Amino acid sequence: MLWYAGELGPVAFAFTDRLGGSSDGPWAALNLGTSNGDDPERVADNLERLRVELGVDRLARMTQVHGADAVWVDDVGDSEVPVADALLTGAPGVGVLVRVADCTPIVLAAPHESLAGVVHSGREGLVKGVVEAAVGALRARGATAIEAWVGPRACGRCYELPEEMADAVAAVVPEARSTTSWGTPAVDVGAGVVAQLEALDVAVTDLGAQECTIEDERWYSYRRQGQDSGRFGAVAMIKA
Ligand SMILES: [Zn+2]
Repeated sequence: MLWYAGELGPVAFAFTDRLGGSSDGPWAALNLGTSNGDDPERVADNLERLRVELGVDRLARMTQVHGADAVWVDDVGDSEVPVADALLTGAPGVGVLVRVADCTPIVLAAPHESLAGVVHSGREGLVKGVVEAAVGALRARGATAIEAWVGPRACGRCYELPEEMADAVAAVVPEARSTTSWGTPAVDVGAGVVAQLEALDVAVTDLGAQECTIEDERWYSYRRQGQDSGRFGAVAMIKA
């Protein structure tokens, strides 16, 4: 269930894998995604299992749209699922959840101010600057030292794109330009995210550097599984 769990001061966080859930078939087993054809009751059960495992009062979700909006959980209602690609919290006991299948999940922590967040960045988020938006929102609430953990995603040797698309990403984030293992244009979203975080003076731990969601079936992958792909995720929380 928890592939990696960590803490920094009052902030706790975790990255999930596919194990320990109730979904079957392409969604097996801990699918956290609600719009990929899986049985909603099983997804609800998976989310509840994760909530219990993490010991949080609730898991706050967002509807991710490959944009660059960062939202604070305390600015939205308990049952509301805001449209955003970064979800931030200063509220003890609430876990903020990001869900991915090939895109890059990021956890942010500002331990001195008891603030944290999660971010979803794919190719579009990289270009639109969702990482910058999330870090900026944390700093606007007083965050000083910020640390980040970057999770498993499609690697730069697999994430093939048409050349003009790869070049358009590289025009904004040169560090993200890559080449597939078979020699065609590609983008390394994780490398781009790490470069963006470092340029913002965020201390980065790249947990997913050796992982690839496309190559390894321990992860869900949209590229490998298509529409039926499940979603794994990352959660950040301020300890109650
Ligand atoms: Zn790969």
